[in-house]
Amino acid sequence: MILLSRRVFRAGLLGLTGFFIVQSLGAQSWQSEQFIQSVRREAPIYSLNFWALGLRSVSRIKFNEDGVDQYRPLRNIMYLNDNLSDGGGRLKELAKIHPNYLATLAHESFHSYLQNYVRKAPALRIQNRWMLTRPKQLYRELSDEKAAIALEEGYASLIGMLVQSHVSILRMLNSSGRQEEKCESAVSLSRKLWSVNESQQVFGYYSRDGIGEYWTDRFKNLWSSITGKESGLPEDGTYPVNVALETLDRQWVYREIFQNRFQDSFEESFKEVLKDLPCMKSSEDLL
Ligand SMILES: [Zn+2]
Repeated sequence: MILLSRRVFRAGLLGLTGFFIVQSLGAQSWQSEQFIQSVRREAPIYSLNFWALGLRSVSRIKFNEDGVDQYRPLRNIMYLNDNLSDGGGRLKELAKIHPNYLATLAHESFHSYLQNYVRKAPALRIQNRWMLTRPKQLYRELSDEKAAIALEEGYASLIGMLVQSHVSILRMLNSSGRQEEKCESAVSLSRKLWSVNESQQVFGYYSRDGIGEYWTDRFKNLWSSITGKESGLPEDGTYPVNVALETLDRQWVYREIFQNRFQDSFEESFKEVLKDLPCMKSSEDLL
């Protein structure tokens, strides 16, 4: 009898929670839906669970002029700089957003996805277990709390970096790459740029955000980074951990977050566009 009542009570609670989640998604997704639909339409490779769910599950997006990018879990609000706004309170469409800001958006969406899904949804318990156990393996010298934050920021930064890089390259291939005379050099430069990701060390840090600027600055000059120029870290009050993410972490992010659409392999990561380029077609014909 007691068991039964508890079950009923639990079911009631679950139902209520479900109701609030649905309410929240229905009420607030107007801010992100324009962006999510443009991704589906124009670049389905970026239709990724973490991104769409992360954006749809925030209670609100607040755009601001002072360039703050931050996800605040307590109030479930995403603060984004004005460059991401369409002027009417919604996120711009994909094509109108600079790769640096897409990196910011992906970064903050990962925080929200972790908070609203990975830590709560039973279906994602394997991802959750990884996010709970991995920090102490990687950052043995940090406290549990700092290690968890450092890993979360490290992964969010890696995700931002890969998005920035992928979008920049995809746009170049779609413009220069489709012109016969520019195709080969565009493919060659793209291949080089994508390979930078592999050698680029990524570090976590344990001060929440301010991060938009951190990684935007760091990767603003992705183009120049292959020339060997290092951009210094801005003094933004974050504390980088001097242990870089490992191959294991990158593999996890490729698999669990990018659903294997992004990989170390340039050919795999851009196969959809490459197969349509004039210089790639001709090399295929020769085979
Ligand atoms: Zn962050």
